[in-house]
Formats: sequence, structure tokens, C-alpha cells
Amino acid sequence: MIPVAFIGLGTMGYPMAGHLARKGFDVTVFNRTTSKAEQWCGEYGGRRAPTPAAAARGASMVFICVGNDQDLESVILGAEGVAAGMEAGAIVVDHSTVSATLSRRLADALADLGVAFIDAPVSGGQQGAQNGQLAIMCGGDPASYERVRPVMASYARATTLMGPSGSGQLTKMVNQICVAGLVEALAEGMHFAAQAGLDVQRVIDVISQGAAASWQMVNRHKSMIAGEYEHGFAVDWMRKDLAICLEEARQRGVDLPVTALVDTFYGDVQAMGGRRWDTSSLLARLQKGNT
Ligand code: NAP
Repeated sequence: MIPVAFIGLGTMGYPMAGHLARKGFDVTVFNRTTSKAEQWCGEYGGRRAPTPAAAARGASMVFICVGNDQDLESVILGAEGVAAGMEAGAIVVDHSTVSATLSRRLADALADLGVAFIDAPVSGGQQGAQNGQLAIMCGGDPASYERVRPVMASYARATTLMGPSGSGQLTKMVNQICVAGLVEALAEGMHFAAQAGLDVQRVIDVISQGAAASWQMVNRHKSMIAGEYEHGFAVDWMRKDLAICLEEARQRGVDLPVTALVDTFYGDVQAMGGRRWDTSSLLARLQKGNT
């Protein structure tokens, strides 16, 4: 089977790398915190490497899922980064959510080594990663995309090539712009329902059958009613993503008024101690009366 490497065994990367191993790929992993890589090898039986470069050596495809722009740049171009271990003809696939600007720069830097780069951010959350049901939006050259598509299928429900380098990240920005306003609207609707004396669960039961239905409504209303936010997609990560969206929009002269406002609301949630809370915690902010 094809030798592949996976860098970054966090909430998302751990189960994604697991799907590759289950499909029979010869997987070598690297994780900054070694104990997680040891745990992963114990569970899935792959190998672990001491550095990203060592993990990438001999791999024809290297998959990455780390945090932000700085993290991604260091695991690729840093002294012990994957670029130092890769051979011409190999492909790097990045599943982190980062800026399109960095994706284009990394694609250029790797092209000088004869290595292709596909930006491939994901949507579907921890649940999607665990169930192998992620939506993946990609940017890069069509021939490299066609080589990695069947491998990504190990953990994807849908993958689409959107255009050249950076197009996957631009598409992920659209996803986050749509989600930001939508979660605030859901929180406001539920807050209003409770204040109006309605049974919030019964409200959701009926309106989720109509035009207001959304993934957030279906998957998050129960935990929102219960005031449970210690799960899901962290507010810190959402603010990282919205900063990327707002900077890209600023450069292009695009107005995103609701996205900019909701970003400040997430700043309020962080100040309430909710940095790792799920993004649906906008309801907790309204309940606190912080409007
Ligand atoms: P996470 O649980 O915090 O995991 C981050 C992973 O990256 C960890 O393995 C971490 O290593 C590694 N890492 C971070 N900085 C690093 C660095 N400088 N050098 C080496 N390794 C580094 O994050 P996650 O939830 O899996 O998210 C990963 C990416 O996917 C982010 O870009 C996020 O925005 C995106 N994403 C997340 C979700 C979600 O629902 N969680 C959904 C869609 C997209 P350590 O173990 O040593 O910390």
C-alpha cells in the first residue's frame, strides 16, 4: 500500500489518520506531543517519527492537520519540517484552516522542490472526522488532486477541487461566513423563545421542519438548551477563522458587516471564559445580558 504520513493528531487529525490506517495505508505519524502519537500507534498499529521531516521521508503523500498559519508554516518549512524530508513527485495535503495567502506561498515554495501542494480544509467537525464523513474543499493542480482524492475518500463524504492553490481556503471562508451569522441567529431565536415563555424544545421541533432548519439547529439545539458547551468547535478556532475571513475581505474590499459583528460577540464569549467552548455558546452570551 502507498506509504503516507500524517502530521498533527489533534481532535481532527487523530481520527482522520486512523481512517487511513484502517483502509490499509502504510501510515507514519508525527505529533508534537509524543504521548498522542504513542497512543495513536497503540490504537492503529502505524509507526511514529520524531520530526515532521522524518515522517515525510519516503512518503508519497503527506497529510497535515495543525492549528494556524504559523503552525503550518513551521511544520512544512521549519528546520525539521516536512519539506526537508520530501522527494520530488510527492504531494502535501493540508487539512488545517489557514489563510489563502499562506497556501499560495507554500505551494510556490514546495513547487521549487518538485513537490505539489493541495490546500484541503474540511467541514463536518469532530463528529465528521470520527465518522469519516467530512466535506473537503480543495485548491491545487488537477493531476495532483486526482492522485490524492481516492486517499482522502477514506474520511470524506464529499471532496471538490475548487480551482488553483488557495481556492480550498477561500471556499472554507465562505463556509465560516455562513456559519457565523447562522449561529447567532439560532441563539437569538432560542433566547427570544425562552423570554417569550415558549417551550424552546417544542419550538425547535416544529421550526426545524420548515425554512429555518440548519445543521446547527439540528445538531446543537439540545446542548444549547442544556447550557452545555464543553464540546465541538472551539470559539478560539472560530475567531482564528473569522480573522482570516475578515482580512481576506479587507484586501478584496468586500463588506462583511454581520461576520464582523459576530466576531466581536465571540470576543465577549472568550472574556466570559469560553475560549474552548463550542461556537453555539453565543446563546450563553445573550443569556448573560451582554448585548
Ligand atoms: P487541535 O485539537 O487543537 O489539534 C491541533 C494539532 O496540531 C495537535 O496535534 C497539535 O499538536 C498540532 N500542532 C499545533 N501547532 C503545532 C506546531 N506549531 N507544531 C507541530 N504541531 C502543532 O485542533 P483541531 O480541532 O484538530 O483542528 C485542527 C485544524 O482543523 C485547525 O486549523 C482547525 O481550524 C481545523 N478544523 C477544526 C474543526 C473542529 O471541529 N475541531 C473543524 C474543521 C476544521 P499537540 O498535540 O502537540 O498540541
